[in-house]
Amino acid sequence: EVSSGSQQMTPRAAQIGPAKMSSSASKRKTVADYQFGTIIGEGSYSTVYSAIDRQQGKTYAVKVLSKRHIVKENKIKYVNIEKLTLHRLGQQHPGIVQLYCTFQDESNLFFVLDFAEYGELLSIIRKFGSLSEQVSKFYICQIIDAVSFIHSKGVIHRDLKPENILVGNNFNLKITDFGAAKLLGKSDENGESVDPGSPTPERLGSFVGTAEYVSPELLKHNICGFESDAWAIGCILYQFFIGVPPFKGKTEYLTFEQIINVEYSYDPQKPLPSDVKLLIDSILIANPDERFTLPDMMASSWLADVNWKDKACIWQRRVPKFE
Ligand code: ATP
Repeated sequence: EVSSGSQQMTPRAAQIGPAKMSSSASKRKTVADYQFGTIIGEGSYSTVYSAIDRQQGKTYAVKVLSKRHIVKENKIKYVNIEKLTLHRLGQQHPGIVQLYCTFQDESNLFFVLDFAEYGELLSIIRKFGSLSEQVSKFYICQIIDAVSFIHSKGVIHRDLKPENILVGNNFNLKITDFGAAKLLGKSDENGESVDPGSPTPERLGSFVGTAEYVSPELLKHNICGFESDAWAIGCILYQFFIGVPPFKGKTEYLTFEQIINVEYSYDPQKPLPSDVKLLIDSILIANPDERFTLPDMMASSWLADVNWKDKACIWQRRVPKFE
């Protein structure tokens, strides 16, 4: 029986169709294929469960999105962007949460994702207060490598922050939450980039992202390019060492003011190695043209000993001790 409410939403909900999967996935999964466990987390329009694939016995994170809620809150665009981006990027990089399949029932959409068993990077920073130089280096290398890959596919994440970086298998990082992403160029039906598009900054209609990690150019000129992701990486690196992001006012307005004026300082009680400070200061530059790019970060003195071509070294090494 279909209520009049769901009948009303059907035409728009139909725009959030399931992703086209490869031919090997011709037998589409359904809810019955998974044994749902506990709730791992909740977003503004989604609930994430741990769920075991009954056939494989493997645990996944299944993101359940209520169609009614998505339509009511006008989030169709964001859900589609998330799905399209994960398809464009998925299965190609260890530092990005993989989308294995999508399916739907009458009321919900289901995204079957990699299960990041240790949750958000933010919880680890909070648990330890800050991260050691070794762990910070290990993790910033994973972030730079993953974001470089994302950029190479013509995608700007636009909401990088420790809540959107998950900690999975062997404590390796996985970037998630592409709902605010900007896809440059066209995508074919499998989400592959056909044309990487122009890397010039995009003008935006409205603010996306999170107050503390948002770039000055977005606040001042409403533009957001690859440089804005670089800015967020600078904020995250600062947070690894200090425990809190560099720009954090009592209100969002005060935070924005600090960002526009690039007003941040170091705690004399927590001295940073000079080459780390140099790297942070070279990223947190108001003018995006003068800011360190990701290749600049890779070539910085602090990261000079990293062999960026050796992916195994970045992704398969054991994470250094947290304390
Ligand atoms: P919002 O939509 O409000 O920005 P969100 O993006 O965090 O919130 P979800 O993507 O639904 O919303 O995630 C909700 C929570 O579930 C997250 O905070 C995260 O802790 C957890 N979570 C999401 N995806 C995974 C995953 N693949 N593995 C483990 N935990 C996850």
